Amino acid sequence: MKDKIDLILLDSIKSTLSNADKITVISHHAPDGDAISSSTALYAILKNAGHNVSIVIPSRLSDNLEFIPFSSDIIIYNKQTEIAENILKNSDVIFCTDFNSAKRVEKMENALLNSKAVKIMIDHHPQPDDFAKFIISDTSVSSASELVYEFITQAGYSKFINRDIAKCLYIGIMTDTINFSVNSEQTRTFEIASELLAFNIDKKEIYNNFYNSYSEERMRFSGYLLYEKMKIFKENNLAVIIVTKDELNKFNYKAGDHEGFVNMPLSIKSIETSIFVLEKNDYLKISLRSKSYFDVNVLARKYFNGGGHINAAGGKLYIKISEAEKYITDIFTNK
Ligand code: 5GP
Ligand code: MN
Repeated sequence: MKDKIDLILLDSIKSTLSNADKITVISHHAPDGDAISSSTALYAILKNAGHNVSIVIPSRLSDNLEFIPFSSDIIIYNKQTEIAENILKNSDVIFCTDFNSAKRVEKMENALLNSKAVKIMIDHHPQPDDFAKFIISDTSVSSASELVYEFITQAGYSKFINRDIAKCLYIGIMTDTINFSVNSEQTRTFEIASELLAFNIDKKEIYNNFYNSYSEERMRFSGYLLYEKMKIFKENNLAVIIVTKDELNKFNYKAGDHEGFVNMPLSIKSIETSIFVLEKNDYLKISLRSKSYFDVNVLARKYFNGGGHINAAGGKLYIKISEAEKYITDIFTNK
């Protein structure tokens, strides 16, 4: 197999690591499965390799990610700000997994940019910014976790993989591919999944922990959204769901509970694009998904102050929730 990671780049990273005293691994705000899995796996490998390593995430994990190994070692910047700032300040190396722009760590951005640490990005989003000295970026892989696996094997760390680390990496690949349905066209993704399964991880338990462990309220909330709130714009093959704060409260919403709601309308044959709008305290959180040809990364960058991948992207709007539907339909009408 052709090496995924350039050998000169890999050598530079390895010599940086051999001189590093303190290493920190970070990922993005409102972390998803791949963010937590790629960072915990890298954290644990580096620890097993004998390094002094910390793991810092800007904001809290949703409940359904807490089963990921090593997640209890994570320092949450929003909760333990001073500790996290000291860690970042005193790091020699900061690995940044699953994000391509310093903005994605939100309130932690200054602490990241001001740190003297050598920043190393391992990511699979298009158009990475240049805040990191070393950039391992590949949009053809399924997930940041897959690229972390390539890094581990190419850097000679395979001997440090154990069952828990294999579990992390498998979870990252499983969640970013929606259980191997999207972003998994390359045979390599399945080879890696197979190598991870060889560590005797329980695939069924992992699936159930992530996909079948929501609350009754969340299920009823999804029913309400589909029945009452989903709007279909046939001429644009578009579905839009807009959710207010009052509705979130009524259904006892917990952070992360909406994960996956944006995908639901895509199971309608005629729908190519789905947009989900969530009212937050000072902005609207936008999630965008498409089935095949429609590039939601371009849409998110142009109209929603965000970004992502061709079939999954996100962003923010600073308008009233009552204006959101018109804002979105105007984009599609004038496109
Ligand atoms: P989600 O809709 O699940 O929050 O995000 C889907 C995809 O879009 C993820 O790959 C995520 O990294 C990206 N994404 C979500 N929100 C933002 C954002 O505010 N800015 C950028 N650049 N990407 C985002
Ligand atoms: Mn990812």
